[in-house]
Amino acid sequence: MTDTPLNRAVFDQVMVPNYNPAACVPVRGEGSRVWDQEGREYIDFAGGIAVNVLGHNHPKLVGALTEQASKIWHLSNVYTNEPVLELGLKLTNLTFADRVFFCNSGAEANEAAFKLARKYAFDTVDEEKNEVISFQQSFHGRTLFTVSVGGQKKYREGFAPVPEGISHVPFNDIEALKEAISDKTCAVVMEPVQGEGGVIPADPAFVKAVRELCDQHNALLIFDEVQTGVGRTGSLYAYMDMGVTPDILTTAKSLGGGFPIGAMLTRKEIAGSLGIGTHGTTYGGNPLASAVANAVLDTVATPEVMAGVKSKESLFVQRLEDINKRFNVFRDIRSAGLLIGAELEEPWRGKGGAIIAKAREFGVMLLIAGPNVLRMTPSLVITEEEINLGMDRLEQTLEALISEAE
Ligand SMILES: *Cc1c(COP(=O)(O)O)cnc(C)c1O
Repeated sequence: MTDTPLNRAVFDQVMVPNYNPAACVPVRGEGSRVWDQEGREYIDFAGGIAVNVLGHNHPKLVGALTEQASKIWHLSNVYTNEPVLELGLKLTNLTFADRVFFCNSGAEANEAAFKLARKYAFDTVDEEKNEVISFQQSFHGRTLFTVSVGGQKKYREGFAPVPEGISHVPFNDIEALKEAISDKTCAVVMEPVQGEGGVIPADPAFVKAVRELCDQHNALLIFDEVQTGVGRTGSLYAYMDMGVTPDILTTAKSLGGGFPIGAMLTRKEIAGSLGIGTHGTTYGGNPLASAVANAVLDTVATPEVMAGVKSKESLFVQRLEDINKRFNVFRDIRSAGLLIGAELEEPWRGKGGAIIAKAREFGVMLLIAGPNVLRMTPSLVITEEEINLGMDRLEQTLEALISEAE
């Protein structure tokens, strides 16, 4: 053990400065409550960015992890293992898919999806059919391919040359997609609700049109459900509520409930393009990660948890509307289950970061999605009491900020 006190200052001493974490250092969590080194308590509306789908320290997940920990941790894909086989069966039973590729993160799941889309077009049509269309403001991860497909330029600045054959069109704009798509398009990639881009749901008519245009041009439709998946929107995957089925779906974040895991789901005939040796990752389908994900799915994919998402969403939205009546801070409140965004009104625009920093002082953890949107992605089993307590604290935060400004 080191004698150096393990505080925020150490971060600046030893870490690459790509993050700017909060001053407090959390050490323990229980449900939707977290405590830091000083024993200060926080209500967790951030959920580790849509990851802690069953909160902290959930007994079923702790049980699954510790049980697997005493059996076998890792094998690599030179061998398969029981937890991953069970997880593959579960995901294919629960979704449109009949083939799964496992990896360790959302970016890796998307990387696999984009590579598969190109390879499938290469195998079934020709090498000219390689173009990928995605949407402005979209987010698909931080590898070079995924920042290139993502619709936020700032994430690829300075990293050129980036992969080619990618275009970005405005989200929810059918005409713009019609204009851009062609028989050279191998895939259209979308988030059913743009998460990092500001919590922006796809219009139902838009989703249908995207599917039709993909069919007309023999392009694959890829749904990036890394943020929306595993119950977040009130159905196991968001596509299930949209009357449209993708050809490839990526899932990560909530799938492991806090243990790193990602997956790409697809159909058998498409999956065939990733034959033996074409793609891979050492940890993909690791027994520990798979055991936890099995417990996550067993717990989340139940009518009680799904119904709870809708009632908790209503309470969140109600409380945000009440806050807005008092302070007039939000221009728009958007939600898709427990993926909730509150877009700031003048004179608060651009101040999302300052608001969530202040909220932390008042004991509530929130996120932003860009500088203008407060975002909440809590546990799906957060209690009413925890929601109300966190919302009281957000209200106190805004009260304090207003009186400071006066
Ligand atoms: C978070 C996110 C990713 C990237 O996932 P990582 O696990 O951080 O690589 C990709 N797509 C969407 C929609 C996300 O929200």
